[in-house]
Amino acid sequence: MYQKQAYRSGRSGQAKGFRNRRPQHKGRQPKKAYIHPSKFIQGAKPRLEEAYTPMHSFQDFEVDELIKRNLQVMGFQDPSPIQDQAIPHGLAGKNILGIANTGTGKTAAFAIPVLHRLITEPTTKAIILAPTRELAEQIEQQCRQIGKGSGLDGALLIGGTAMGPQLRDLRYNPRIIIGTPGRIKDHLERGSLKISDCNLVVLDEVDRMLDMGFVHDITHILSHTNGARQSFYFSATLDARVKGIIENFSENPIHISVKSGDTSDNVDQNIVTHNVADKLDKLHDILIDETTAKTIIFDDTHRTVERLSKELAARGFLADSIHGGKTQSQRQRVLKKFKSSEVKVLVATDVAARGLDVSDITHVINYSLPQTYDDYVHRIGRTGRAGRVGYALTFIEK
Ligand code: ADP
Ligand code: MG
Repeated sequence: MYQKQAYRSGRSGQAKGFRNRRPQHKGRQPKKAYIHPSKFIQGAKPRLEEAYTPMHSFQDFEVDELIKRNLQVMGFQDPSPIQDQAIPHGLAGKNILGIANTGTGKTAAFAIPVLHRLITEPTTKAIILAPTRELAEQIEQQCRQIGKGSGLDGALLIGGTAMGPQLRDLRYNPRIIIGTPGRIKDHLERGSLKISDCNLVVLDEVDRMLDMGFVHDITHILSHTNGARQSFYFSATLDARVKGIIENFSENPIHISVKSGDTSDNVDQNIVTHNVADKLDKLHDILIDETTAKTIIFDDTHRTVERLSKELAARGFLADSIHGGKTQSQRQRVLKKFKSSEVKVLVATDVAARGLDVSDITHVINYSLPQTYDDYVHRIGRTGRAGRVGYALTFIEK
């Protein structure tokens, strides 16, 4: 229930490691798209507070008083642009395709209307899908905060954690299901989850969800939801192909785009040139600088991430790693330590590139180049969130 800590998932136990649903490329990385180095250089241009004047305040929205109170407690004073523009349509029951830069509050832009409808209409039921387990957990936490005191029951269905607690949560017939596509599909196949009455559907990071590896799972899941559903699709990036798929899934979605540019305005971007011999030393120099308070470093594979994190720890940095080769309980533990600053340098694969909101990350370092420019946009979007300024550095071999 949303007033008690009722979710029981997230426990360890029979952790099986990350089941990668993207095509496997054994022993080698898929070919990377060429991105011109100039695309990795751009000064930050944080917008002045007054640059955007919201049309609404949270108090103006026709949302349940309980939600308004919770938003106040959370310190949300004015809606961000995507919230300002998407929430009224969401409350009016419209399908929404919302595009906004990283770190600008997309979660609450869908969570507020979804929770309002759940609270005020007893026949509604919601399913929220996210591409990674950590992101699903984070969305669940934010929904719990916004819906605190409502008594709504929920279930968090993510892979790598024990089935037992999830099955128990499902027996309460929760009104809000949050999870990753793989585990949700598992529950559907076992018959432990019924979503034919889900009439509110959210796909967060929709382009990632609809890329090669996920599209079948998503189609399968959506086809089991209620035909008369209201859909919410959100991301910071979207290509034409994905737009086409979305239009197939739902009628006339309202497009709301409040992007200022490809990348967040709050991230100062630059490159670091190196040669093979001095790459690690260059990284070391950046990390010992006192302005580098909390860093996430992206590298290609489980193996390279693990090796780099060990090397940095051996050099005395508070470093640890997150990648799909770890058990879910290890992943959860590391992320928790990173949030509490017990770990200050997190080395990660792209499993951490999407959606994660750790407010005080000062630096994102691309120790290896991202696969695509969109991947770059998401990686560097882990810093410069909620109005703060952050730094992104991309390593390029001379
Ligand atoms: P996005 O999904 O666009 O990347 P998030 O939803 O993760 O962004 O939000 C980024 C951060 O901003 C979170 O820490 C969130 O709590 C905070 N936030 C969102 N909306 C507001 C608001 N209206 N006022 C203050 N903080 C906000
Ligand atoms: Mg998000």
